Amino acid sequence: MALSEFELIERYFRRCGAPRADVRLGVGDDAALLDCPPGAVLAAAVDTLVEGVHFPRGCRADSIGHRALAVNLSDLAAMGARPAWALLALTLPSAEERWLGEFTAGFAALARTHQVALVGGDTTHGPLTVTVTLLGHVPAGTALRRSGAAAGDALFVSGTPGDAAAGLALEQGRLPAPGKTEYLRERFLFPTPRVTLGERLREYASGCIDVSDGLLADALKLAEASGCGLELSAASLPLSQPLRALGAERALQFALGGGDDYELCFTVPAQRLERLRAALPPGQWGYTRIGTMRAEPGARVMGEEGELSLPAGGYDHFSNP
Ligand code: ADP
Ligand code: MG
Repeated sequence: MALSEFELIERYFRRCGAPRADVRLGVGDDAALLDCPPGAVLAAAVDTLVEGVHFPRGCRADSIGHRALAVNLSDLAAMGARPAWALLALTLPSAEERWLGEFTAGFAALARTHQVALVGGDTTHGPLTVTVTLLGHVPAGTALRRSGAAAGDALFVSGTPGDAAAGLALEQGRLPAPGKTEYLRERFLFPTPRVTLGERLREYASGCIDVSDGLLADALKLAEASGCGLELSAASLPLSQPLRALGAERALQFALGGGDDYELCFTVPAQRLERLRAALPPGQWGYTRIGTMRAEPGARVMGEEGELSLPAGGYDHFSNP
């Protein structure tokens, strides 16, 4: 490496993200020292992105920086927690300054948007791998969980699921690209974690999960954790115009089975629906009702002519039409 590890940390990581008064000690010592607000519990999440597995080889560096933080922001959003501090473990094949500049720019822009400070990390040599640990906090006893949903609760999703998976398929040349596909690629490269929505949902939602593996798979995880099942209406799925342009069947498959959306899938009890709609108007906050939780386990997807049959192999690999 041309740069020493010390120089690299000084140049790229010492002042990355938002400055925060609750960071007593950040990058530079053996550990960071952080103040957690009184009455709050710490929320902690970690996610690793491996080149060739979680993003294509040669993917733009600013996207990798953005996504490494976004996937963790999305996990904290799903808990209704407020993000605060990040640690970055970076394994690099070489210390290329241009790559590092773009990577940290992507990371830092999203970190500043959500007031997250980079307070420490680790830098090693090897195949490109990015691990971000994100810490945040949530008032004790108020965090959202996967296990809180009940039969009869309304099921919602934020954003327009399926876009990111279609964008990845386009990036990888696995899909013919009719017309404008830039929007779909952007949804993969720069997902929008729903941090503010997650925090606001603490008052209304009974259960919540973020959509990383695919809407149906993740909704089913929420249902299973809650000891119930779900029924979803295909016609109610919020599909973006660029996704629809790929064809109705493909759009549905991406929306139900595609991963990498980083949207929130959440449930709200019937008696709180009116308050939810008044406080967080769906059009303004960008979420849509897609179904209802039910007592019978499993997932049912209703089409215009009755229940759709889903692939026998499960939902996880339903994404690559
Ligand atoms: P140590 O040997 O004690 O682990 P390092 O030399 O690895 O310390 O790191 C020195 C300081 O730089 C530590 O505060 C560490 O948290 C920080 N650091 C190292 N790599 C990164 C990185 N990729 N991002 C943010 N901080 C980093
Ligand atoms: Mg040390």
